Amino acid sequence: MDKKTCDKIIDKLKNMYPDAETALEFNSPYELLVAVILSAQCTDKRVNIVTKELFKQYNTPQKMVTLSQEGLEDYIHSCGFYHAKASHILKASQDILDKFNGQVPDNVEDLQKLAGVGRKTANVVYSVAFNGQAIAVDTHVFRVSHRLGLADAKDVFNTEMQLNRLIDKDLWRHAHHFLINHGRQVCSARNPKCQTCQLNTLCKYYKENFENN
Ligand code: SF4
Repeated sequence: MDKKTCDKIIDKLKNMYPDAETALEFNSPYELLVAVILSAQCTDKRVNIVTKELFKQYNTPQKMVTLSQEGLEDYIHSCGFYHAKASHILKASQDILDKFNGQVPDNVEDLQKLAGVGRKTANVVYSVAFNGQAIAVDTHVFRVSHRLGLADAKDVFNTEMQLNRLIDKDLWRHAHHFLINHGRQVCSARNPKCQTCQLNTLCKYYKENFENN
């Protein structure tokens, strides 16, 4: 896609979702990190219910590692995949204590050194907690950017690189939220609302599936 079309898409998304931010509730980078780990395959609403209770007592890595695996699972079981998530949270918390003096690292490279933290989670924490510029590519960002024609890479890393090349850097952290919101509200996986979508005149998927038919 050419830069001009990309800029038009981002401009429209900015108007459609002016207040796009994360729905996860947190009071520190550590709380956000835990919430993002819990949010895999789970709604933000459910995560907020779970963390509201969990963070009353366990809102720092020091406090979290006093919990046993089973003790943490009891708090988070309704988020799904609770065994793996509890293990990741406890190991990442121990890594923060052992390798980073108890502070969540403020850069993507070090965030990825924490147990269970992949590039997507690192990018979310970096951009949301530290206001860094990064486009975390989750399932919504991947699907919507491919449909629109902003990216065509087969994997998430190269999709992120393509988006980085096309979108102005000062908009990366916002672009992540714009694309997620559009994916949730309009461009859903199974039933995209193409006929009423404000982006349809610029969209590759729309051109391929609805124009000249
Ligand atoms: S026109 Fe359809 S495929 Fe394209 S962004 Fe809109 S909803 Fe998604």
